[in-house]
Amino acid sequence: MKKIPLHWSILLGMILGVGVGIVFTTFEAGPKFISDWVKPFGTIFINALKLIAMPLILGSLIKGISDLKDISKLSKMGGRTIGIYLMTTIVAVIIGLIMVNTFKPGNSISESTLQELVQAYQSDAAEKQAVAQKQKDAGPLQGLVDLVPDNIFKATTENGNMLQVIFFALFFGIGLILIPAEKSKPVKDFFDAFNEVILKLIDLIMLVAPYGVFALLAALVVESPSLDLFRALGMYALTLVIGLTLMGLFYLLLVRLFVKFKPKKFIQGIAPAQLLAFSTSSSAATLPVTMERVEEHLGVDEEVASFVLPIGATINMDGTSLYQAVAAVFIAQAFGMDLSLSTQLGIILTATLASIGSAAVPGAGMVMLVIVLAQAGIPEAGLALIFAIDRPLDMCRTVINITGDASVSMMVAKSLGKLHQQPIEKKWDDHYRPNS
Ligand code: ASP
Repeated sequence: MKKIPLHWSILLGMILGVGVGIVFTTFEAGPKFISDWVKPFGTIFINALKLIAMPLILGSLIKGISDLKDISKLSKMGGRTIGIYLMTTIVAVIIGLIMVNTFKPGNSISESTLQELVQAYQSDAAEKQAVAQKQKDAGPLQGLVDLVPDNIFKATTENGNMLQVIFFALFFGIGLILIPAEKSKPVKDFFDAFNEVILKLIDLIMLVAPYGVFALLAALVVESPSLDLFRALGMYALTLVIGLTLMGLFYLLLVRLFVKFKPKKFIQGIAPAQLLAFSTSSSAATLPVTMERVEEHLGVDEEVASFVLPIGATINMDGTSLYQAVAAVFIAQAFGMDLSLSTQLGIILTATLASIGSAAVPGAGMVMLVIVLAQAGIPEAGLALIFAIDRPLDMCRTVINITGDASVSMMVAKSLGKLHQQPIEKKWDDHYRPNS
C-alpha cells in the first residue's frame, strides 16, 4: 500500500481534530469528555517532543561543532547566522508596522467592546505583566549572565534554558576540536551514535504525530472562547495574518534568490514541521522535526543545521516580532493614542529585542509584548484586549518562526558551500520505517 505523505496525514489529523472538537462543543458533556479523554494524548505527544529537544541539541551540536575541525569556521558561521537572523527580524517588524498602520484595526473596535474585553481579561493580562516585570527588573546584562550555566545538569533539566545548553554544547565542541584527534575520537564516536539514536526516536514519535495533533486541536476547539470575541477582534487578526503571510512570502523569495531553491520544494520539505508548529504553538517542541526536515529534505548539512536551528528556535522569532509590532500599535489605536514616527521606530528596536528574549513556548511572545508596550508608553492593560484571540495567532506566528529558521539555515549553508544538491530523502524515508 502506498504511504500517505506525512504532511497530508498530519493535516488530516488536524482537520479531524477541529471537526470532532466542534461536534463535541454542541452537547454539554462533550467538552469535558475531550478534556478528560482526548487532550491527555496531545499532552503526551508534546511532552515526547520536548523530551527529545535537549538531548538533540546536546548531541547534534557537539557532533556538528566537532566536525568543523577548526574554530575559524565556527566564527564565520556564527557571524552569518546572527547577521541574517537580525536582518529578517527587523524586516518582520517593519512589515508588521506597515500592515497595522495601513489597516488600522484598532480604530474598528467599539468603546463598549473595548470595555468588555478589558474587564473580562484584566486578571489574565495582569499575570503576564507580573512575569514580564521580573524580566524588566533584571539589569541590562542579565541576558548575558543567563547564557552561562553554573551547572549543566540543572540547565538541561529546565526546558526554558535552551540557550544555556547551546552554550555548553558549543563550549564542549570547541574543546573537542582543540584536543588531538586520537583523543577526541571516542567522544566523537559516542556523540555520533547518540545522535543517531535521537533521530530514530524522532521518527518513532512522528509515527504518532497525526494522532497527537488530532488530540491537541480537538482540545483547543472545546476550550476556546466564544466566537463573538473572535469577531470583535477579526480585523486585528486579519491584519496580523496578512503580515505573517507576507513574511512567509519574503522567506520564499530569499530562498529562491539566494539559495536558488524552488519555493514549492521548500514548502513540501518543511510542511510537516510547519503543521506541527501550528498544532503545538512551540518552536522548541517543533525543533526536532524542523531539524530533521531541513537536513534530510532541504539539503542543509548537519554541521550547519545543528548550529543554526537550535539558536534560531530561541532567538529568531520573526512571527513573534511581527506580532508584537502589530499588537502594540493595535492597542494604541484602540485606546485612541497617536504614535509618533519616533515611537514606532523605537518599536522596531524593542520588538526585535523582545522577540530574541521570548522563550520558544506557547504564549511567550505575549509576555515580552508587555516590555514593548511599556517602552512605547502604551497602556499595558491593553493586553487584555488581545488575550482571547492570542492562542490561534500564536499558532500562526510559530509557523513563521520556524519557517524563518529553516530558510536562514539554507542561506547560511549555501554561503558556506554546505548545501547538498540532492537532499538525502532516502535516509529520511528509511528512518520512518520502524523496522528498517
Ligand atoms: N509560541 C511562539 C514560539 O514558540 C513564541 C510566541 O510568540 O509566543 O515560537
